[in-house]
Amino acid sequence: MVRRGFAVTATIYVVGPLGGPTVKIFRVADCLFCGIAAGDIPATRVLESPRTIAFRDISPQAPVHVLVIPKEHHQNLAAVAEAGDGLLDEIAAQAALVASDTGVAETGYRVVFNTGDHAGQAVHHVHAHVLGGRPLDWPPG
Ligand code: 5GP
Ligand code: ZN
Repeated sequence: MVRRGFAVTATIYVVGPLGGPTVKIFRVADCLFCGIAAGDIPATRVLESPRTIAFRDISPQAPVHVLVIPKEHHQNLAAVAEAGDGLLDEIAAQAALVASDTGVAETGYRVVFNTGDHAGQAVHHVHAHVLGGRPLDWPPG
């Protein structure tokens, strides 16, 4: 039997921001966004930083729809926040940079981390959606 989603290429144990142990997983087999981060799955990249990649969403919901992901695997916002080490700051900074590079910083944009079933999270590798280029409804559906 193949256990999907559990094989990893590297695991490092570090101390989390609250002193507890944190498991750092660099790549999860069968994770779509780990595949994109590794360059195994094609994506239209718009920006890269040492620990993040930004690429265009395959099914854009706005004229600008870019995803920012950490290269290392974290399941969701809570997991990447718990990992500490400034990674969440780097994702947020890259989202802001994507907005200015794609020309929506002035007109406005939205950054969304869908988390869990009720939010419709489909890919369980944390990602920030950067949406802009048109007026966005509030509240969201
Ligand atoms: P979620 O629903 O998990 O917040 O968002 C996942 C996003 O990933 C969706 O907006 C979806 O369109 C996008 N996506 C799914 N598969 C691919 C892919 O293969 N390439 C790219 N670039 N985006 C994808
Ligand atoms: Zn992943």
